[in-house]
Amino acid sequence: MEQTKVLIIGAGPAGSTCGLLLKKRNIDCILIDRATFPRDKICGGGLTPRSFKLLSRLLPDFKYDYNSVLRLKLCIEGEQVLDFMMAEEIRIVKRKTFDAQLLEHYQKAGGTFINDVLTGIEERGQQIIVTLKSGRQIACEYLVGADGANSRERKYLNPNASHGILCMEQYGPKSPDNAIVGNLSRAYHQGYYYSFPNESCDVQGYGGYVNTPEIFRKVLRDMGCPDEKPLGAYIPLSIEYPIRKNIILIGDAGGFPNRLTSEGIYYAFLTANHAAIAINTGTPFSVVNKKVFDKKKWEEYASRIFYSDTGLAILKFCCKHTPGIITWAFNKAAR
Ligand SMILES: Cc1cc2nc3c(=O)[nH]c(=O)nc-3n(C[C@H](O)[C@H](O)[C@H](O)COP(=O)(O)OP(=O)(O)OC[C@H]3O[C@@H](n4cnc5c(N)ncnc54)[C@H](O)[C@@H]3O)c2cc1C
Repeated sequence: MEQTKVLIIGAGPAGSTCGLLLKKRNIDCILIDRATFPRDKICGGGLTPRSFKLLSRLLPDFKYDYNSVLRLKLCIEGEQVLDFMMAEEIRIVKRKTFDAQLLEHYQKAGGTFINDVLTGIEERGQQIIVTLKSGRQIACEYLVGADGANSRERKYLNPNASHGILCMEQYGPKSPDNAIVGNLSRAYHQGYYYSFPNESCDVQGYGGYVNTPEIFRKVLRDMGCPDEKPLGAYIPLSIEYPIRKNIILIGDAGGFPNRLTSEGIYYAFLTANHAAIAINTGTPFSVVNKKVFDKKKWEEYASRIFYSDTGLAILKFCCKHTPGIITWAFNKAAR
């Protein structure tokens, strides 16, 4: 049986970043993904300032393509309440290109990548034996689950973990003003509409706890978007699994995206770094990642208030009467 210290399942932003950070520390690891890259991933592709700053701190040599956006428009119940220039750009990446560039960076650094599917996990004493679809078995000391919203490791640790919110997206024609547009509504089941302009098109999406292709189409029609073919994906938003020392969940697999905004790429980088530190130092991941776990708790309360009828009414009032406070708060949160 093959042996490695760390086995990472999933080569999205979380898995490839973790692999690169382990390689930097000369820690033996193997990265596995079921997809052949470049593969597409349903995602707005928005990297906030804190997200791309963290990425450049962790991987200073990594170069990637993006569309820089400075303008943001916010609507509530379809009525535009804010239109402003952000203090710092948001970088919109095409996930198909971005994830392939990150994986290539890992491979160029000497990282081992296997194109295969995780099908089984078995714990034997201190070791974890992983079975792949090809029949190959690999024994490891640490198993890192970076396999996204439908994580197999997450199901292994908690078969009843919830899926989170369902987002649907379509690619629409590129709007001329290169602005991010958001709309919030009481009818959206704690969800939101968004449009993110990348280099060649606008990614238009709707996410909420209740979502179907019919609801998606209605939301997009109401926002004046042409009808295209929707694609759907979950964003897991809660951490519901027993924490282990040698099975670590990062990125979407761990349910780390922000509960209020669904920003997930930043948390993919952050938790990947925490996993690499935990493995390198032998410190439990729950300790290294403590601030993120703690933050998840208050996010839950904050989102209930934010998306309530009263929360949206207060936001609308503030956008109209004290827009400076809202733009200041937005710029501070994105930094
Ligand atoms: C509609 C939508 C819009 C979004 N917009 C934004 C945004 O604008 N900004 C932002 O920051 N976040 C956004 N997010 C969230 C963001 O996409 C995720 O947080 C991010 O992709 C998480 O990265 P990850 O590496 O954890 O998982 P993923 O990118 O999902 O990668 C998981 C990988 O695991 C592989 N895999 C899965 N199962 C197996 C298996 N059994 N064996 C082997 N490989 C496996 C998959 O092939 C995949 O490559 C959005 C999400 C959605 C759904």
